[in-house]
Amino acid sequence: MADPRGFLNSSREEWPRRPVEDRVRDWDEVYVPGALLPIVRTQADRCMDCGIPFCHDACPLGNLIPEWNDLVACDDWRGASDRLHATNNFPEFTGRLCPAPCEAGCVLAINQPAVTIKNVEVAIADRAWADGFAPPQPPDRLSGRSVAVIGSGPTGLAAAQQLTRAGHTVVVYERDDRIGGLMRYGIPEFKMEKRHLERRITQMRAEGTKFRTSTAVGWDIGAGELRARHDAVVLAVGATAWRDLAVDGRELSGIHQAMEYLPLANRVCEGDLEASPLSAAGKDVVIVGGGDTGADCLGTAVREGAKSVTQLDIYAQPGAERDEASEPWPVYPKIYRLSAAHEEAGALETSPSADADARLFAASTLRFTGDPSGRVCALHLVEVDAERRPRPGSERALPADLVLLALGFSGPDRSDGLVERFGLELGPRGTITRDADFATNVPGVYAAGDAARGQSLIVWAIAEGRAVAAAVDRRLTGESRLPAPIGPHDRPMTA
Ligand SMILES: Cc1cc2nc3c(=O)[nH]c(=O)nc-3n(C[C@H](O)[C@H](O)[C@H](O)COP(=O)(O)OP(=O)(O)OC[C@H]3O[C@@H](n4cnc5c(N)ncnc54)[C@H](O)[C@@H]3O)c2cc1C
Ligand code: SF4
Repeated sequence: MADPRGFLNSSREEWPRRPVEDRVRDWDEVYVPGALLPIVRTQADRCMDCGIPFCHDACPLGNLIPEWNDLVACDDWRGASDRLHATNNFPEFTGRLCPAPCEAGCVLAINQPAVTIKNVEVAIADRAWADGFAPPQPPDRLSGRSVAVIGSGPTGLAAAQQLTRAGHTVVVYERDDRIGGLMRYGIPEFKMEKRHLERRITQMRAEGTKFRTSTAVGWDIGAGELRARHDAVVLAVGATAWRDLAVDGRELSGIHQAMEYLPLANRVCEGDLEASPLSAAGKDVVIVGGGDTGADCLGTAVREGAKSVTQLDIYAQPGAERDEASEPWPVYPKIYRLSAAHEEAGALETSPSADADARLFAASTLRFTGDPSGRVCALHLVEVDAERRPRPGSERALPADLVLLALGFSGPDRSDGLVERFGLELGPRGTITRDADFATNVPGVYAAGDAARGQSLIVWAIAEGRAVAAAVDRRLTGESRLPAPIGPHDRPMTA
């Protein structure tokens, strides 16, 4: 530690966000460019070398957080980059997008604000790119074995990079026209600019990974053909089968799934479209679903020029502090959080105040009503208690010309026949079943990421990709030196 009393001398300071009125006028990332580096060494020095770092356990990747905090505090950025990349293929993704369960498990967080671990991580990652510490690492020799990775989200990319570096010939098949999975067409530009994705893809191509886009496995290429071409197949197809809302009026036009809406906005940012055909401009928007996907719709609708935006959450508003009885430290607690998108909703002219929260908690949708042309014009809701029983007399209607459903996902998409053509077994939740080695019921076929774990997070997806790569490498070569940070049945820490 550069300063053993760092946590006593300095308070927590986060990477500042740009003013709301500026950032809602563009799609750039919400943070002030260049404002992290001047504060980050002092922040890293707040790490108190606690001896038993729970942050390390709380991170599914097992990131060596105290080690790289210390290296940053001592201004050794190359060393920090090496330690960070030893456990995380894509720290610039997690440093921007991870909800940071590590910070909930930080020992300092027992009685003080946690170390800004996620900020330190992204600072190291960005510095590594700027200073050339992340060059391509092609393998010294090839194994003569080939692996097909289906899906190019964070799971597929991490698996492909690990297996390529281990010497296997890896081909990534992706049904979309671009690489990246939900990081490409789900997550908006203002949370992570796509240039970060492009840079990693360039690195991976230079290492030897091959990419085949616009190729839906099951549809454009059969399961038998793929298994004949490759020694192993890794299914990293995500969990993109969305949940719907079976209430009266669902058939009205103007009601769309979040993942019908967000990809179009992302395509505008990519330059594929002039404007989104589902743009929220001038509309009263209601988002059904209180999670992060809903918040992404909110930030997107604000930038598109919505008239008003309301986000409905069926759960009651959580408290501001951790409930020590039900979610003690170091568990990741459900507390009231105001994301960047929630801050931005106050910028709308129709917002009652700049700090008004666009969310309605404990709100359940009853039905939609439409105009004579069959277009939605109102969403009817009722307040509910903790058991989701309606509170009598609380029914009301919200004006709505665009309704976005952000209700989560149940498992892999079934429309392309991939599950049937491979003959895969699914579990009760609709995800692909696998054994302790990530192997499915079909010989030589493995499953990882959201497709098998269920809807999750990027940090878990990268951990899954690394772990399945180790399992496949072991099967192909008899042993593996690749790290396996998690097992298929590991779950986040709970009380
Ligand atoms: C809107 C939204 C926002 C999110 N925001 C965050 C966030 O801020 N932080 C966070 O940690 N997590 C976030 N998540 C969750 C995170 O994106 C996922 O957990 C993660 O992307 C899962 O990675 P994956 O590689 O398993 O699957 P995916 O990213 O879904 O990738 C699967 C890929 O497989 C491809 N595919 C599917 N079937 C086939 C086929 N038959 N042939 C070829 N290719 C196929 C798909 O096109 C896709 O590209 C968000 C999710 C959504 C929906
Ligand atoms: S990946 Fe997430 S949990 Fe792990 S160190 Fe980074 S922010 Fe923390």
